[in-house]
Amino acid sequence: MILEHLVLGFLETNCYILGDSNNNEVIIIDPGDEPEKILKLINFKKFKVSKIIATHGHPDHIGGYAQIYKTFPIPLLINQEDALPFQVKETKNISQGDIINIGNLHLEVIHTPGHSPGSICLRGKDYLITGDTLFAGGIGRTDLPGGSMEKLFSSIQKKLFSLPEDLKVYPGHGDFSTLKDEKLYNPFFR
Ligand SMILES: [Zn+2]
Repeated sequence: MILEHLVLGFLETNCYILGDSNNNEVIIIDPGDEPEKILKLINFKKFKVSKIIATHGHPDHIGGYAQIYKTFPIPLLINQEDALPFQVKETKNISQGDIINIGNLHLEVIHTPGHSPGSICLRGKDYLITGDTLFAGGIGRTDLPGGSMEKLFSSIQKKLFSLPEDLKVYPGHGDFSTLKDEKLYNPFFR
């Protein structure tokens, strides 16, 4: 399995590049900023980009897409409930239960509204990409348009905390964690 991690832009967004090491096919998750850094890594590692996805539509998670699209003209996979802050070339809706295949790698879409109406998490074999829904020791802000604290708590408690505890948590900003640690130590849920 390919797992690369870049921290991009002044909001330090975590961008993940996941893929199948058998054929070098990858997905870019949250190309938030500094697209040149993403393209440089992809070029250096000879990755084949087959998909690009956003955990939600905030600018710090999609800001690099337009530039990447010039090299890889493929649609941005994003839940349609998120209004986008600027025009995006091409989008394709993803929703609860969709399976995204990247070679041998399979990601399940979990719709987790709260931080934004169209926020999603992605479940892989032993990890969970949580975007701005769940952080190590924190949760996403809900004061932006379409945000809802009630929905955020419900999404995390019903849809994430019911998953296996040993899943690693790869959030949209900050440190990595595990679901177990967040259940035990996240101050919002203790
Ligand atoms: Zn956000």
